[in-house]
Order: sequence, then C-alpha cells, then structure tokens
Amino acid sequence: MFRTFLMLSALAAAVTASAQTPYPVPEPSPLPGLDYTESLYPAGADHDPAIPAPEAVLGFPLGERAASPAQIAAYAREVAAASPRVELVEYARSYEDRPLVYLVISSPENLARSAEIKAGMAALADPRDTSVARRAELVEQLPGVAWLAYSIHGNETSGSDAALAVMHHLAADRSATTEGLLKDLVVIVDPSMNPDGRARFIKSMAETRGAHPNVDDQSLLHTGYWPYGRGNHYLFDLNRDWIYARHPETRGRIAAIAEWRPILLVDAHEMQAQDTYLFSPAREPHNPHLPPNRYSMGNVFADDQAAAFDRYGYPYYSGEWHEDWYPGYTDAWAALRGAQGILYEQARLAEDGVQRHSNLISYRRSVHQQVISSFANLETLRRERGSMLEAFSKDRAEVSSARGPYSDRSFVIVPTDNHRRMADLYDLLRIQGFEAHRLTGELHVRTAVDQLGRELRDVALPEGSIVLRNRQPEARLLAAMFEFDPRMTDSTLQKERKRVLKEGRSTMYDATAWNISMMFGLEALSVPQHLDSKLEPLDLERALAEVRTVQAETAATTAADDDRLIALAVSGADDRAPAFAGRMMERGYFVRGTDKASRLDGHELPLGSVAVMLDDNRGAEGWRSAAHEVAAELGLRLHGITHGRAPGELADLGGRHWQLLAKPNIALLSRGMNNMLDYGAAWYLLDQRLGLRHSHLDENRIGAMDLRRYNVIYLPERWGSDGLPEGMTDTLEAWVRAGGTLIAVGNSARALLGADEPMVATRPIEAVIAEDLGPYQDAIHREWLAGQPLPAEALTWGHEAASEIDTPWQDFESLPGPEERKRIDDWQKLLMPSGALVGARVDTEHWLAAGTAPVLPVLFYNSPVLLAAPPAEAPLRIGVYDDAEDERSSDRSNDEKGGMLNWAPVPDGQALRVRMSGLVWPEARQRIASAAWMTRESVGRGQVILFASMPAFRAAQLGAMRILENALVLGPGMGASRPVPLP
Ligand SMILES: [Zn+2]
Repeated sequence: MFRTFLMLSALAAAVTASAQTPYPVPEPSPLPGLDYTESLYPAGADHDPAIPAPEAVLGFPLGERAASPAQIAAYAREVAAASPRVELVEYARSYEDRPLVYLVISSPENLARSAEIKAGMAALADPRDTSVARRAELVEQLPGVAWLAYSIHGNETSGSDAALAVMHHLAADRSATTEGLLKDLVVIVDPSMNPDGRARFIKSMAETRGAHPNVDDQSLLHTGYWPYGRGNHYLFDLNRDWIYARHPETRGRIAAIAEWRPILLVDAHEMQAQDTYLFSPAREPHNPHLPPNRYSMGNVFADDQAAAFDRYGYPYYSGEWHEDWYPGYTDAWAALRGAQGILYEQARLAEDGVQRHSNLISYRRSVHQQVISSFANLETLRRERGSMLEAFSKDRAEVSSARGPYSDRSFVIVPTDNHRRMADLYDLLRIQGFEAHRLTGELHVRTAVDQLGRELRDVALPEGSIVLRNRQPEARLLAAMFEFDPRMTDSTLQKERKRVLKEGRSTMYDATAWNISMMFGLEALSVPQHLDSKLEPLDLERALAEVRTVQAETAATTAADDDRLIALAVSGADDRAPAFAGRMMERGYFVRGTDKASRLDGHELPLGSVAVMLDDNRGAEGWRSAAHEVAAELGLRLHGITHGRAPGELADLGGRHWQLLAKPNIALLSRGMNNMLDYGAAWYLLDQRLGLRHSHLDENRIGAMDLRRYNVIYLPERWGSDGLPEGMTDTLEAWVRAGGTLIAVGNSARALLGADEPMVATRPIEAVIAEDLGPYQDAIHREWLAGQPLPAEALTWGHEAASEIDTPWQDFESLPGPEERKRIDDWQKLLMPSGALVGARVDTEHWLAAGTAPVLPVLFYNSPVLLAAPPAEAPLRIGVYDDAEDERSSDRSNDEKGGMLNWAPVPDGQALRVRMSGLVWPEARQRIASAAWMTRESVGRGQVILFASMPAFRAAQLGAMRILENALVLGPGMGASRPVPLP
C-alpha cells in the first residue's frame, strides 16, 4: 500500500494546516492485484549499500510509476559517481536540450582497457588489415559488448524504469553471478532513448492523475493525448530513423555504437495494454541482407528468455506481427551491423496497472518483465560470447572479401549541381561508416540497372559520380540501404495476398521501400561489378566542408560593395534556394524567383533560381550585405549580377519570368485528427531546413481565427477518412479565394475533394470512374503531345481544309461500361500498397518542380488516386514513359506497349513504368497509373496544391520535400495574386 501513502503525502505536502479542507480525500478502495510483491532484481542479489538505489533519487519505489527523464539522468550520474564499475557518457542532446547518456558497466579491469576493447572490436569489424591468427586471438580475449536500449518511444515507459533496476543491480550486486558477468561482458545501458517524448508523456500523466488509481487502459492517464509521447520533439518515430539519421538522438547513438560495436543490442518497447509480451526473432518478411546467424542465434536467446518468463508463469510470444523487412528499425539496423538485435514489446500499462479480462496487471510487473528479459539476454550473451564473436568476425571477413556475397556490385550515384542534396548524401554515408569513391573520369560499363528496373547496356558513368562498392565491411547495411528493389520470398507474398483478399488488411508493418538514392531523389545505377578503375577515395569530411564552407567563402568574395551590381542570385538547382528566398523575405527584402531558365553574367540560373534586385530594394538599406549574410548562413554560393539581359530566349532579369515573390506567412494545422508524423515532418522542414517563422493552428479553433494573417496553410495527412472538422472547408475556401495558398496532403486532400461542392476540379478516382473520363484522358494526351515532334511539314503548311486530322482518342480502346469500371476499381482498391516507391514523371517546366529531375521516385500508400484535367495542373503524374525504341534497355516486354492502361491512354510505342521499389501489386499499379501525385489549381485569387502522400515523409524524401518547399516559399508569389499596396 505504499502507493496510497505516497499519493496522499504528495498531494498534501505543500498544503499548510489551515489550507487543508476538513474533509480528507478518502483512501482509495482496495484493488487486489495492484500491489506487485516480486523483487525487481534477480534472485540472490546482494546489493552494496554504498551504491545508491533508484529510490534515493526517485522519491518513490522503483516501478511504482514512470521516472521522469530528469530523474533517470540524475540516477545515472549518481550511480556512475558511486561505482567503480560504471562510466557515464553523454552522447547527444535532444532538441529540448535534455542529455542522452549511456552507462558503460563492467569490471574495473575491463573499464581500464576500454580503448583496447574498442580497438579489438574495430579490428574484427574491419578485418582487412588483421591476420586470421590475430582475429582468433581477439575472439578469445574480447569481452562481449551488450547495448541495452530502452524506451525509444517516449510513451512506452516501462523500459526506462527497468533500465534503472539493471543499472543498480549491475553496479551494486556483489554476487558471484554478477562479478562473473562483468568480467566477461561490457554492458552498456542506454536508459532513455527519447527523453523529449518521455517528458511529454510524463507531463500528461501528471495532468491526468487523480487521487485514486486508474486501471482502465482507455482512460486519458493511459492513452495520453495528441501529439502523444511516442515521437521526439518533432514527433518523429525514432525507431524508423536509423537508416536516415535525421535527428540528434539517432546521430549521437549511431556514433557511439560505431565506437563500441556491440554484438547484442536490445531495444525495449511496449505494445497495446491488453497484450502480453513479445520478443524476437521476427516473422517474415526478413530483410534479405540480415546476417545468417540472426535466426539461429535469435532462437537461442529467445529460448532462454522464454524460460526466464516460464519461471514466473508470465505469458509471452515471438514472431506473430513483428517483422524486420524495414532496415531502419533499431533491431534490424543493429543486426545489419552485426549485432544480435532483439526487440521487446511489453503490454503497455503506463501507470498503476491495467484491468484485463482475466486479471489486473500492475505497472511494476511490466517493469519487472523488462528486467527479467534484460538479465536473461545478458546470461545468454555471456554463454554465447565466443561463438557470437566468431560469427561476427567470420561474417565481416566474408562480406569484405572478393569471394563473398557482396563482391560484385557497386551503386553509382550520378552527380548533380544540387550541392545541398549531395551534402545530405555525404553526411549519411559518413555517419553510417560507408566507404565511398568518386569517378575521376567517364567510365564505360557493359551493363547496369537503373532505378526503374531497366537493364541497360553500354552505359557511360559520368565523371564525378559517387561510387559505393558493396564489397566493404558494412556491406550488409549498405546493401539494405541502397539496393533498389529487394524481393520478398514467395511465402511472404502468398501470406500477404491471402490476408488482403480474405480479410482486407495487409500484413506489412511499415513502408516496403526506403532506399536512399530514391528517397533522396538522386539518380543512381546499380552496376554488377566491383568497380576499380578511374576511382579516387572520397573524403566525406572534406566533401562536406566543400559544400558548407568553401561555398560560403566564395560568397564572401563576391564583392558586396561592387557599385555595378544590379542583383545577387542563387541557383535554383540547389535545395537551399527556397530557404534563401524565404529568409531574405523574412528580413523584409523583395525577392524574385524565376519560372523559366535564365543565364545572367554567365551564371546558369535554372527554373526556381532566386534573385534579390537593386531596383526592388532601393528603399531598403543593406540588401547586398543581407544577401551575403543569408547566403553565408546557408553555406550557399551567391552570384553577383551586373547585366540583366540573358542570351537567346532565356529569361531576362526584368522580364515577366522573374516573378516578384510574396513573403510566406505559413500556418500548419495541428491537433485534432492531424497525423502527428506528417505535421511533425512539415514542422521539422520549416524549422530545421528552411529556417522560417511560422504558426501552428489548433484545428478545433480555426473557425474563430483571423486567417488573413497567413497566406499559406498546410493541412497535414489525417488519421482516418472522416473529413475535416465541420465548417472548416467553407472557411478555407473563402480564404483561398481571397488569395491564400492551401496545401493539403493525403486524407486532407481527400476531405477537400469529398465536400458537397469541392472548391477544386481535381477528383478522387472513385468519384468519377463511372462518369465521363474523356477530359482526364485528353489531359494525359495533351501533356504527352506537347512534348512531341510536329506533324509533317506538308500537313502543317497545307492550304486545303484537312480532310483527316488525328485525334488522340481515335486510338483509345473503348472502356468497359460504367458499372463494370466501378467494380474493377473496387477490386483494384483492395490491393493498394502499404507504402512503396513509385515513379513520377515530372513537368520540369513547372515552378513547383524546380530542382527536380524528369523522373522522381515518390512514396505511395493507400493514398488518394487523383484525377486531374485542365484547368487543374498535374506537374507530377505516376508512371514514367518507357520508349520501346530505346535500344539501351534489354528487358522491354512487348505487351507493355501503347494502348489503354485501365482508364488512362498510353501513347503508341510507350510502356508505363510505375513500381520502383517495394510491394505494389499489379492491380494497384494499374489503378494508380497516370494519376496525379500532386496537383495545383487556381481558385479565385488563390490556389490549392494537393499531394497524394506525405511529401516530407521521415524528413528523408528529399526530392518530394523540395517540391513542398517550392510550394511553401514560391507559392504565394508564383501561384496566387495579391493587391498592389497603395501608399
Ligand atoms: Zn515502440
């Protein structure tokens, strides 16, 4: 009953006698099952009283309720200060400035030789310069390094509380078992992987906690509320961030893990409250690059863990729903680096406990179950240390060797002028520990596969290409991150299809595609050989410095005081151009952007380039120095312009194509049913990449707000398809008609289109499939023909009224009748992807597509299938035309040629490539072919921009993010109109 006592004393503590009511809070009624009397520690524990127990810091018994991040950090410091077995390392700071720490716990002898241990592990990890005999010695001598990581999802609290028990026991226990364990192992405890998320959830529990226990898992105490504690400050799921490394929590941890090279990595989570306990190994699909011993050794760990639970009679299971196809989960990522990655999923009890059908389980028991698991895993590691190190050493040697499974493949990334995008790539290669090379000249290879899955012959790889040879120590992770199109096994596909058809739901737990070159929007090739000519090693630090610093220096040397300057410009090829424009406008300067390619003073200024002009800013002081400052902040090259006339038909600086931009006043819709992941991703993009001030609006209060303050509103992806809050569509329409730029994503777009009288002409396929599809078909043909050669000269210049002209629809096969079309669509809809990369063909003359290549891989899930016809614009459509005449490609299938694909015409001699990576069933490919991925339409004086799926997904879809940045920053000036401000 200590709980009752603490609750009452805590509530009463600050209350003076006179302020107390005469009626004390009634004692909570007895609740059998709430008190958990098992010790949290292994049997036979003999704790040294000189080492503080967690209670000393918490002020309540460990496991009574969740410790705060501050309490966890404080205990970590205390135990490190008191114990010679413990060293504390701070490895990162969260966005909210909370420390992320790990504790190294081992015998003092091992701690004294930690540099030697790290060096030994590094030699096994990269065995190329270490003899076989030396490696055998290291396997014999090295302790096993374990990394125990807890609560990456901030509202899955039991793990971090268990970490406190693990830390205390390992630091304080004098039993022979622990002494032996710490002789053989180095145990690293990473107690709180996401302190910002945890702090958010702890706060919500403090707010919703009453004087009496609550064991109803539907109650707010247990559920929390929007935006919940799962994500980090920007609400990202850090358990998906490992392969992209966007956040300080991940980045610090990756660096620390690279230093220690653990061979066991535990990742402790929670799942829904009415469940039991799940642990590894995972069911299918398995990522094909996971090491061979993952499942054999995984079963050894699982059996021991299960036996530990059996001793208490606690239920558990493994596999079932947990898979490791996506390589960015903690355990999968760790496994790809050679550790045994183990996932825990404890039923989530949050606080007090949770009533279930047959029993009540206390929070303290959930903490204990995580402790039981941790010690069971450490015991297994101690026993298996030798064989695991041996397997690690052997596998690393194999994958780095010319006879290994990765010996004959290189990924080649085609260079671009988009320096920011390349910097993102260099940074990721660096942090993941990949080796990279650069081509010093053009290199011809016999065959290569492109991102659309085409096998090409006789390919010239351009000078400056980045080459990632798969044969290297981190081969498995490299392959998992860069391989274009990994395939699932037939048995996985069989199960998936069966479940979708029988039950209408997918077995896929996450996006089925993620590879870096496609997500980053960088063109790449996969070459089936270990390239080794015309290569120089790429020094990633230097390459990054070149992008960041050298450019800023170049900017500084453009004479800011040159009297002849009429403008300063930045190239639209670089992803930082929108940030430059936005930040200059934030400082109050007028800025122009070009909707057509230009070249001034010899500087290439493609679509989307930005200029600050003397003539616009005559009234403003210091436009030149401000431009230099902003360019330097961004590390962006600034071009001084002294002559405004561009050669040929390129855009002159004073002409209509260099459009005056409008300062974006941006609002994100928040709370309610907004998908916190997309909201968070847009917020991150605005804060961390664009660096622009903006507002977040509570969608439940929008009716009472003055929206005239904003000229851009972003409606994030929404949970469910129930539509927008009542009245919001009308409010937004009035605002758009007055000049606003409305951006809507996924289900938000669907909601706008589902209004009684939608403000836009774009339609979801369901709404029009049984109607006249002619306008949508014609739109596809118009876009195609606009890019084709002229009709024959004789026809064009003929004098007679032409007796026959070609209309595109003459070639159309007739469609099935309306009812049949509807039925086909319903059928195709069953098999929509759970998340895959599809190819979009891009209108590279559209301002929204500035900085984008003609083909952009984009994410697609059960997203709205958008049909657009003029006046709606569709700068990105799904499906890339593939010319049958293109002799470079060897795997064209003839039946793909021309004709009709579902409702959409395909020009003669063309096939349409849709799937780039991940699972997209043929039915879905057919359904989404030629649908718009993004649309733009004018509505009144404003515009509406729709995205079918989340553009800023995981802050890693850099190609799509650029399009969103164009929409946010260029949008109000280029696509909407505003009044001339009379003096
Ligand atoms: Zn979790």
